Amino acid sequence: MNTEQADILIIGAGPAGAVAAGLLRQQGRQVLILEKEQFPRFSIGESLLPQSMEYIEAAGMLRDVVEAGFQYKNGAAFARGGRYTDFDFRDKFSPGWGTTYQVQRAAFDKVLADAAERAGAQLRYRHEVIAADVDAERPRVTVRSPDGATYGVEARFVLDASGFGRILPRLLKLETPSDFPARGAIFTHIEDRVPPGTFDRNKIRITVHPEHVDVWYWTIPFSDGRCSLGVVAHADFLTRYRGTETERLRAIVGEDPGLSTLLKDAVWDTPARQIVGYAANVKSLCGRGYALLGNAGEFLDPVFSSGVTIAFKSASLATACLAREFAGQTVDWQQDYARPLKQGVDTFRAFVEAWYAGGFQKIVFHDHQGEDIRRMIASILAGYAWDTRNPYVAEPKRRLAVLEALCSA
Ligand SMILES: Cc1cc2nc3c(=O)[nH]c(=O)nc-3n(C[C@H](O)[C@H](O)[C@H](O)COP(=O)(O)OP(=O)(O)OC[C@H]3O[C@@H](n4cnc5c(N)ncnc54)[C@H](O)[C@@H]3O)c2cc1C
Repeated sequence: MNTEQADILIIGAGPAGAVAAGLLRQQGRQVLILEKEQFPRFSIGESLLPQSMEYIEAAGMLRDVVEAGFQYKNGAAFARGGRYTDFDFRDKFSPGWGTTYQVQRAAFDKVLADAAERAGAQLRYRHEVIAADVDAERPRVTVRSPDGATYGVEARFVLDASGFGRILPRLLKLETPSDFPARGAIFTHIEDRVPPGTFDRNKIRITVHPEHVDVWYWTIPFSDGRCSLGVVAHADFLTRYRGTETERLRAIVGEDPGLSTLLKDAVWDTPARQIVGYAANVKSLCGRGYALLGNAGEFLDPVFSSGVTIAFKSASLATACLAREFAGQTVDWQQDYARPLKQGVDTFRAFVEAWYAGGFQKIVFHDHQGEDIRRMIASILAGYAWDTRNPYVAEPKRRLAVLEALCSA
């Protein structure tokens, strides 16, 4: 089998892979990206967080994203029964970007991948990594090309950005079960036909099911009059509904009077899809000659739209480690990559747990919120989960528990 040599090999051209490639090209590294699909391709995860803009900018891709015409986003809104509250990300504790976009991922991922290519990364679509060996001196993967032939690539370092493909975790047996129960989502894109003035299109809207505190819907408006709509619930809850995915989603949406009214004129023109059991974890985020980025590492939950931000953060941390390593410095990947990445992931984890237990909902729907605390919460909702000056980052569990107790009193 023919074996090529590469400097940095990236598996997957999703957000983590493309931004990692952009950052590495800025260091002047030679980058090869292998992507098993042909872009544009559908992907879920359309609501970005302002923190993610920092990494898009650092990767030299800001102009491409700004000029792509995506829906501007400045916050998150929460609705339950007759209650409604929203957070404006610009009014937040941490410094940095306060606005971002709601993106059709087929287009967004292509914008980033094109930008990586323009920056000089070599990107091969429809080349799938099917085997990996990290025990040799240099990591080596086996690739299936579009004509079915296989070839090898040996690299100085491999970044696994294969997302839910989780190629190295599976091949190297790194997978461990997530702490979260098996939840699932049913989702689609609709032409929403929501009358102007009744819906803040600049915000993701999270609607909590009227009876089940752990069931929620997302509506993510796009700039073209369309909307991403989905429901998230425990897998057992979703199996109670019969019919096609579209019929099941319509039935669950029909249970919330507010959301049903909002979407009463919507055109359901795209078959819904279901994804179940997406939460995932690994024993280790790095090993000799490789690191896991984005969803190839850990995926928590969609409720705070943190996935793409975590993917970018992982790309930023890993490429900074590589820069130091190539400059001849010693890098402790556990200490310098995995640990700082997990710190922010664990902030989100505390918020996700509090959301499903109902405590965070008490906080967001509470009538008398202090401005300072709102700004600290807005920071997390905007993705600033690594800013330890924010007390809700420094000790999220304890702070959330205290705040919930105050809101319940
Ligand atoms: C229901 C749901 C809703 C979500 N909503 C949001 C949201 O609103 N906001 C948000 O930020 N995140 C959201 N997410 C999370 C988001 O989808 C991911 O976190 C994000 O896409 C991760 O990016 P990534 O680059 O790590 O992986 P991906 O986007 O999955 O990209 C991985 C790429 O690798 C390629 N690949 C896979 N296997 C191979 C292989 N063997 N060889 C070569 N290429 C391969 C794939 O084709 C793909 O293009 C949501 C997730 C779910 C499940």
